[in-house]
Amino acid sequence: MQQMQNIYDIAIIGAGAVGCAIARELSRYELTVAVLEKNLDVSGETSGRNSAVVHAGFNNEPGSLMAKLCVKGNQGFEKVCRELDVPYKKTGKLLVAFDDADMAALQNIIRTGEKNGCKGLRAVSREEAQSMAPNVGGVGGMLSPETAIFDPFIYCIAMAENAVENGVHFFLEHEVTAIRTGPDGGFTVQAGEDTFSCRYLVNCAGLYADRISEMAGVSGYKLYPCRGEYYILDKIADEYLNIPVYPVPRPGIGGLGVHLTPTVHGNIIIGPSAEYISERDDYSCTAQTMDKLFREARQLLPVLERKHIIGNYAGIRPKQAPPEEGGFRDFVIREEPSRPSLINLIGIESPGLTASVPIAEMVRDILTQRMDLKERPDYIAERRGILRFRDQTPERQAELIAQDPEYGEIVCRCQKVTRREIRQAIENPLGARSLSAIKYRAWATTGRCNGGYCLARIVDMLVREYGMDPAAITYREKGSEMFAGTVK
Ligand SMILES: Cc1cc2nc3c(=O)[nH]c(=O)nc-3n(C[C@H](O)[C@H](O)[C@H](O)COP(=O)(O)OP(=O)(O)OC[C@H]3O[C@@H](n4cnc5c(N)ncnc54)[C@H](O)[C@@H]3O)c2cc1C
Repeated sequence: MQQMQNIYDIAIIGAGAVGCAIARELSRYELTVAVLEKNLDVSGETSGRNSAVVHAGFNNEPGSLMAKLCVKGNQGFEKVCRELDVPYKKTGKLLVAFDDADMAALQNIIRTGEKNGCKGLRAVSREEAQSMAPNVGGVGGMLSPETAIFDPFIYCIAMAENAVENGVHFFLEHEVTAIRTGPDGGFTVQAGEDTFSCRYLVNCAGLYADRISEMAGVSGYKLYPCRGEYYILDKIADEYLNIPVYPVPRPGIGGLGVHLTPTVHGNIIIGPSAEYISERDDYSCTAQTMDKLFREARQLLPVLERKHIIGNYAGIRPKQAPPEEGGFRDFVIREEPSRPSLINLIGIESPGLTASVPIAEMVRDILTQRMDLKERPDYIAERRGILRFRDQTPERQAELIAQDPEYGEIVCRCQKVTRREIRQAIENPLGARSLSAIKYRAWATTGRCNGGYCLARIVDMLVREYGMDPAAITYREKGSEMFAGTVK
């Protein structure tokens, strides 16, 4: 097979939130930028498997990069979501205390938060906590008014689409398998069937960042996968909970404790657990952990019933702290002294989503010291997503149907997604064609029936209107093919 030779100023490995944010940030400048991603879409790993919370930054060690970048990220998040049309809601967050020891621990958390620059943190009485979350137990708590929730899939998609509009090239299904020193101190990168040359290499490969670093000639990093499992509950947030509630964190658990978080789509998620595992791609949800999650969640929200559960998922933290140490080690974001031109981002666990834009700015600043970055005069900062039919007024819906009859056909009944929205999701600017690429863009198949009604209709569109071979349709990545072929 003939190989392509692609020459770029900068190659970014990994299209999670961090890679997409860096791509967008660098697209402001007159640079040639390639993003190399092994999966069929952006946000396929940790960035699409988390709590979807914009953290305020009171949990992080004062002075750490985690603390600084989280607080900065929190402060700018709403603006970025507005620019990129990403669902975002400033809900605040309630930390729930169950006893006097928890109430005392809250004072330390407030002090830490204040040192980090978090705004508005304050202890609340049992009565005030009850007025914010009437169904939640506890003896009092702490309010963090700046915490928010958002859609992490659309966040990554939007940053990637905006970067593409500003000239960045995304190469999906391009797994980096080898990195060699290239001419002028740069790199030659083998990804999929293609070879890329670049002057600077940005390694934001998440769970695999230690391995990429090693491929590029810098060893010494080791990441330990630590899984967090979640339940997804039906759309009961309006009825039971409209603010994320967390227990007061206990030291050394390596996560923030099992919490209940409403989503921007109206569901509630329960989780995550925190369990070190041996494989970096073992996203199993286990009966034992899930039972424990449910029990702990009921402590926070006693009205929960098993009938509310509609799904589950797991995410994996790329931890630098080994199991015997636990807790958090700070983000590593630096140009490697032993291998200049390699910018490594290692151990970007929580709050990596919240911090993604300041992380990207930090990478830009590193590059600024090495090259002359000229702003592009034609940079486009805004991006509009798919118009959500169900959120429109009846009058606007009628106008839309008159303009395009495909708005008149509901394909996903649970989430009221129209044929027009599914088509826009299929024709996405990144060219991602898995079923999950369509799911996360249109939010179809995510309801109580788990795609029982709409999945067949979406597949039918892909086959009849886009000429896809049913056997080639995957749910997510290669290996998740849905069909063996046709029966008649
Ligand atoms: C359970 C859990 C809950 C969390 N909750 C929150 C939260 O509420 N708020 C918050 O701010 N943060 C949260 N986080 C942290 C946040 O999700 C991560 O910090 C963030 O998603 C990291 O983004 P990333 O781009 O660095 O990594 P990733 O999203 O993992 O992206 C890395 C990308 O690199 C690609 N890649 C890997 N190897 C290769 C290769 N060889 N070739 C090409 N591509 C490659 C992968 O396919 C992947 O797409 C949570 C994390 C977990 C696990």
